Amino acid sequence: GPSRHVTARVAPLGARLVLALVEDRTRERRVEAVRRDFVANVSHELKTPVGAIRLLSEAVHDAAGDPEAVKRFSARMLTESERLARLVQQIIELSRLQGDDPLEAPLPVSIDDVIRTAVDTSAIDAAAKQIEVVVGGVHDLTILGNNEQVTAAVANLVANAVSYSEGGSTVLVSTKADEHTISISVVDQGIGIPTEEIDRIFERFYRVDPARHRSTGGTGLGLSIVKHVAATHGGEVDVWSVEGQGSTFTLTLPRYLPTRESQEARR
Ligand code: ADP
Repeated sequence: GPSRHVTARVAPLGARLVLALVEDRTRERRVEAVRRDFVANVSHELKTPVGAIRLLSEAVHDAAGDPEAVKRFSARMLTESERLARLVQQIIELSRLQGDDPLEAPLPVSIDDVIRTAVDTSAIDAAAKQIEVVVGGVHDLTILGNNEQVTAAVANLVANAVSYSEGGSTVLVSTKADEHTISISVVDQGIGIPTEEIDRIFERFYRVDPARHRSTGGTGLGLSIVKHVAATHGGEVDVWSVEGQGSTFTLTLPRYLPTRESQEARR
């Protein structure tokens, strides 16, 4: 608080050092608590599909004489193992992200490329639901950072837009820019998000009413990855949603304007 700040300013050097150490330890402890929490959540989240797969394999074994039951149980086993694979992949992605700072050795990232790859990632799921993904807005925008991370973030937003929309609807991915920032909006006409849940959807493993859309088999990690990538690139992610009508997620990032010389040098 402000009073502590005043103390720090007037305190003699020794006291200031002690104070700095205490603050450092507090931060360390907080980081440690977050890490412990994450490990506890990961263990819990992994145990659910692993437990289900074990039970289902016993069920398949016991139902050997009943081909219909075998079919049913093994179909559920496939669903659970796909969910497990997604979970493991996203946990690895998240822990890799946490390890490095994309602005330490940033490279120019083409937003056109990011969007093309992100949309491609969901092409099969979108086609299966006859959802049209339309791309529009400003072209030739560039930011500084890590291509793979920004692509993963936008891909998560597009995948969610497709997952949480009815078949036959449209998803729009559009870009805007001013001198200092660029933004990528992913607009869907899907189920939307209840107002009271909006603040929580960026938390790790948080899913709105998992029973409501169990079939989508999400992990609850996608948006925490988006939020992390936005923050480490000096930007942010916003959401606007009306339940039953749709959602708009907007990723805003600092713009990079290549100088004329560097543009020419690259030609
Ligand atoms: P998940 O793997 O469950 O999609 P996310 O972290 O990506 O995890 O999203 C968290 C939750 O936010 C989702 O479970 C869903 O309830 C909600 N959500 C995310 N994107 C959308 C969207 N475009 N429309 C409706 N709900 C969404």
